[in-house]
Amino acid sequence: MSLGGIKLDKKISLSNYTSIKIGGEAKYFYIADNFNDLGNIISNIDSDFYLLGKGSNLLVTDNLVKKPVVKLGRDFSYLREKENLLEIGASTPLSFLIKYCLENNLSGVDNLVGIPATIGGLIAMNASSFGQSISSALVEVDVMDKRGGIKTLKREEITFKYRFSSLQEDIILAARLKLFSGGNLKLKLSEFLSERLSRQDFNFPSCGSVFKNSLEFSAGFLIDSLQLKGLRRGDAQISQRHANFIINLGAAKYNDVDYLIQKIKDQIYKKYSIILQEEIKRWE
Ligand SMILES: Cc1cc2nc3c(=O)[nH]c(=O)nc-3n(C[C@H](O)[C@H](O)[C@H](O)COP(=O)(O)OP(=O)(O)OC[C@H]3O[C@@H](n4cnc5c(N)ncnc54)[C@H](O)[C@@H]3O)c2cc1C
Repeated sequence: MSLGGIKLDKKISLSNYTSIKIGGEAKYFYIADNFNDLGNIISNIDSDFYLLGKGSNLLVTDNLVKKPVVKLGRDFSYLREKENLLEIGASTPLSFLIKYCLENNLSGVDNLVGIPATIGGLIAMNASSFGQSISSALVEVDVMDKRGGIKTLKREEITFKYRFSSLQEDIILAARLKLFSGGNLKLKLSEFLSERLSRQDFNFPSCGSVFKNSLEFSAGFLIDSLQLKGLRRGDAQISQRHANFIINLGAAKYNDVDYLIQKIKDQIYKKYSIILQEEIKRWE
């Protein structure tokens, strides 16, 4: 299938688009650089497609991915001030937002510093860190539904829960955030960043925390209590630094990671009668 210049001809390996560096070829891979591209793409493909952000929460099969994969490109990456709000395109990396905040001394997303994500992915997942979630700074979002209709939704019209938003069936195009004057932002950012670097595993590719925490328990704590850190299957390993991270030591496969995930679930269930829920999104 070809849509003018939009379809990339060369074979695209999704391992180059996921933070854990796992993933097979995409049969159809589209980058929508602007609204026209996006409208054109979604009117020509089945409404059942995968939307790719920075790929930092994804575990993708090594097999051919048959569902079309769509990624927002150039014109969806921008920041501009608009009526006392900051409007930010969905494919903008969080690191750009943080840099902008630092330059303009704006606070509101400081705790998220260091999460490897796009704004669209952060909002879709309602990412949070050190007690602050992206949704707390959100005023409204522009979304496109999978039939091409565009609307603006106020924060109150969206359901946000832990690692969940009701926007996961939509395409988030842009968000408007309310930020405030930052105090000693440089210091806050460097403290959150060093806290993140000391707790999480940034030495090897991963997809962040594999399992959700709950009010009653931290998944990492439970996994650690069973001394599963370091358990390895092929090149996939339960991180020695953070028990809720599975890292890729080089050539890990989807099945290696899946094996470790099942192993963790089984052992936790046997010991604590708790069914761990996955935080990651699987593309199979
Ligand atoms: C080292 C590391 C540390 C991490 N730390 C944290 C943390 O502290 N807190 C936390 O919450 N998460 C953390 N994560 C997980 C991950 O970064 C977040 O879930 C992030 O929000 C994913 O954003 P993304 O752009 O990479 O989305 P992707 O991984 O590409 O996609 C995730 C989901 O969002 C959907 N999506 C992406 N873009 C859009 C869009 N424009 N519109 C609608 N849906 C969209 C995708 O379809 C998919 O379902 C970490 C991951 C890593 C690798």
